[in-house]
Amino acid sequence: MVRNQIRDRGVTNNKVLSAMSKVPRHLFVPKDYADKAYNDNPLPIGYGQTISQPYVVAYMTEVLKPGNMMKALEIGTGSGYQAAVLAEIVDKVYTIEIIPELAKESSERLKKLGYKNIICKYGDGYLGWPEQAPFDLIIVTAAAENIPQPLIEQLSDNGRLVIPVGAPHAIQELILLEKKDGKIEKKRLTFVRFVPFKRL
Ligand code: SAH
Repeated sequence: MVRNQIRDRGVTNNKVLSAMSKVPRHLFVPKDYADKAYNDNPLPIGYGQTISQPYVVAYMTEVLKPGNMMKALEIGTGSGYQAAVLAEIVDKVYTIEIIPELAKESSERLKKLGYKNIICKYGDGYLGWPEQAPFDLIIVTAAAENIPQPLIEQLSDNGRLVIPVGAPHAIQELILLEKKDGKIEKKRLTFVRFVPFKRL
């Protein structure tokens, strides 16, 4: 998976490649899909949600330029896979999930797998996690029509935020925001397809 789907497509960051090699993706998908866990596509995780394609997880992680002292926020825990990949690299990952059942399942899974540097919570990620802000990195793994303002505010200086932006159930654009001296720089990266961002 790492060689053919990720490295050969241009992801070069060694921290990302090694994190993608370490995290046991088959333990993040429903049992019936375990044999397909390393395939080149997203998979259903129940409740109408999906775990992203391995390449998309690696690419989004790479554009965040993660470092080992950093604090990250993820919106859309889902299976917990993206959180685990980040947690292999950064110091702490805070992650929020809006579907209570998924929030519970993923936090139990991450605990069982021994990820002590991931802090999970159930709630509406639109609001971010003000008590823990600012964050060096923010990753949103559901497609939003607009970039939530609270997340921009909770980004630290020199912080990076990656988010799919666009209409639900359509092709969205992956956007990278960087905060420099309090100013926001915006880059359009590529086209992606994510499940919709919801509100409570
Ligand atoms: N990162 C996940 C992918 C999950 S799919 C993984 O690695 O498996 C996107 C997830 O975002 C879904 O679980 C969905 O319920 C969640 N989501 C959608 N809107 C949200 C919101 N406002 N706050 C938190 N989670 C949200």
